[in-house]
Amino acid sequence: MLPGVTTLREPLTRALGPKTGKALETALGTGTVGELLRHYPRRYYTRGELTDLSSLREGDHVTVLARVDHLSTRRMPNRSFTGLGEVIITDDRAKLRLTFFFRTIKAEHILRNTLVPGMVGMFAGTVSSYKGRLQLVHPEYEMLPGAPPNADLTPELAAEFATELTPVYPATAKVSSWMISRSVKIILETLDAGPDPLPAELVESHGLYGRAEAIRAIHRPLDWADHKRAVQRLKWDEAFMLQSALAQRRMAAAALPAMPRPPIEDGIAADFDARLPFTLTAGQVAVGETISMDLACAYPMHRLLQGEVGSGKTVIAIRAMLQVVDAGGQAALLAPTEVLAQQHYRSVSDMLGPLAQRGQLGAADHATGVALLTGSVGAAARRSALSDVFTGDAGIVIGTHALLEEQVQFADLGLVVIDEQHRFGVEQRDALRAKAADNRPHVLVMTATPIPRTVAMTVYGDLETSTLTELPSGRSPIATHVVPAADKPHFLERAWARVKEEVSSGRQAYVVCPRIGDGPDPDEPDYPEEDDFASMEPATVDLSGGVPRSVTNVGRRQPLSVLDVAATLDAGPLAGLRLGILHGRLHPDEKDLVMRAFSAGEIDVLVATTVIEVGVDVPNATVMVIMDAERFGVSQLHQLRGRVGRGSAPGLCLLVTDAPPATPSRERLDAVAATLDGFQLSRLDLEQRREGDVLGAAQAGRRSSLRLLQLLKDEDLIGQARTEATALVSADPNLTRHPALREAIEELLGVQAEYLDKT
Ligand code: ADP
Ligand code: MG
Repeated sequence: MLPGVTTLREPLTRALGPKTGKALETALGTGTVGELLRHYPRRYYTRGELTDLSSLREGDHVTVLARVDHLSTRRMPNRSFTGLGEVIITDDRAKLRLTFFFRTIKAEHILRNTLVPGMVGMFAGTVSSYKGRLQLVHPEYEMLPGAPPNADLTPELAAEFATELTPVYPATAKVSSWMISRSVKIILETLDAGPDPLPAELVESHGLYGRAEAIRAIHRPLDWADHKRAVQRLKWDEAFMLQSALAQRRMAAAALPAMPRPPIEDGIAADFDARLPFTLTAGQVAVGETISMDLACAYPMHRLLQGEVGSGKTVIAIRAMLQVVDAGGQAALLAPTEVLAQQHYRSVSDMLGPLAQRGQLGAADHATGVALLTGSVGAAARRSALSDVFTGDAGIVIGTHALLEEQVQFADLGLVVIDEQHRFGVEQRDALRAKAADNRPHVLVMTATPIPRTVAMTVYGDLETSTLTELPSGRSPIATHVVPAADKPHFLERAWARVKEEVSSGRQAYVVCPRIGDGPDPDEPDYPEEDDFASMEPATVDLSGGVPRSVTNVGRRQPLSVLDVAATLDAGPLAGLRLGILHGRLHPDEKDLVMRAFSAGEIDVLVATTVIEVGVDVPNATVMVIMDAERFGVSQLHQLRGRVGRGSAPGLCLLVTDAPPATPSRERLDAVAATLDGFQLSRLDLEQRREGDVLGAAQAGRRSSLRLLQLLKDEDLIGQARTEATALVSADPNLTRHPALREAIEELLGVQAEYLDKT
């Protein structure tokens, strides 16, 4: 290394000295120069920007521009410090006290000579309070030498300093924005950013800044245009490196062998198709063919199947599983909830009929077996299921997390299907995949929570994506209405009347509540997510619709619970109907009983928590009333209402809320009521979250390497980066001709790469 030159990989302790380096590392987690340089400013202020002193709050880390109004110092011989300096600063609207302790006469002189009344400066520190007054203790400060004494803090003064944009960094109490800024400045003076990792042609054709220039410009922008180009370039870095890494992953996956499972003409799959009571939609046929070809390949399929609720993903999964069974392998279907696993087991067994009755009287010749493994399967049934899975007698294995347990051993696991993948982490996917002998089973993940294209490309960048866009014909649209229970109680009355009407014409209904309502937090070994809301004290409920609920209580009142609502409905609005209850804390056998009874039409109205959110399929249910609807997320509401309108009768979803009109909560509900387009709604959902959260969730809490890239706003850029990166990687899979890019990917994605390896 050349003396006097700082490189990106250099530890901060070396570049800045042990003390500063350590402080930055502890506070910001930045160990190297490159990491500190990716700690981008949160915002910038132009030097004349006036900070409103009257808006300060205790605990804020602030930087203010103000004029020194008054300074006084006192000697305090009896104390451990020598003296106390008190400075009052003002922005002409409010005043703030600065407190300094000094130990030496020299320090007092410096204070008196720099903080001269009338001078303008910037002051940074954490707002604290002493005897009820706000103050900054030992703020960092920098006087503006060019400002005339007693200058008015006017826009004109602002303009004089406006040429320089001063960065404001995300800071902590120990490490101020100024300290970061100064450290960055020191580093920039000797930085050698090394060769540009982006290919020269790309930089040129997109008119991008070079790497070194971009790093300088994001920390020390000359003006806003300079800043904008820096951001553009650094976004390209993030997008391009991520997409290159993903392209490499895809190529590597394609190079690894997997057992091909080609279709056969006269197997169970063909028999199953012949038995289907309906015609597959064009989309189902097309996706089915794609998957069939994937399975026939000698490298593992990694496919994400997205499709609106009710678009018929399950049948696609079953057909894929049967192709694998025909080829001599086994397939596992992992479901996020017990209720869903049981439902899949029932419907797969029903749809297969004699094809699934291996070893039983009346079974088809080449029949296979279907095994169910959940946490609640009894000991004897479990033993027999485990044995069938081990010998291969069970070609199809359906289950929950219980499938991941060590004792579950497959004879020849060829395909892993993961239903409603948004409920699973990467680790769970891996655990199941590891059960294949060669670790390389084909993988199909399915989701009804639509993922915008860019998120699919980025978070699931190494999964090929298929989308079912149409619903099977004969489906009726779901009408959704907001029922403002607080201001229009008769609407709620009307809602219960609708439920009764539907029931009297032979239909069924769901009533969904945010919590269970029977005591302390559930201790759920299997599925803690099933009921997202912990139970609390019972709420007083008035569902009559006749008496307005106390509006003053809105927001304070406990969320409505299944148990309370069911009791109230039973005693009043829905008296005489057959009500059932379903929530995560019921014994699994009871859950199964309730779902069976509901499917069989023996229950008219099912009062439930979000256990029914995913996958539950009872076509005769036509109405859903969601209580305290504002407590659910947009995508969740969309999922929930997908439970009705699955048959030929039109579906109706009523979102009952106390949220007043024009509040954000109410607007979200109005948005859900206004569209059935899940993609649009999931965008809305994502827009309200930060990118980090989106990635964070997918990465199971790992730190995101994306700082500037916004998955929704930067769609075009990500798309272009993907195209360019894929081309580059196919021509040079190991990046031997692009060493700088290779190194930068490691630097930027060190943590991310770990995640990518696992997908
Ligand atoms: P999802 O995609 O939400 O998982 P499902 O696979 O549960 O949807 O399908 C919903 C319902 O539609 C099921 O009852 C299924 O049997 C039925 N179904 C699937 N495909 C078709 C089709 N092509 N025509 C008619 N009904 C279908
Ligand atoms: Mg489903």
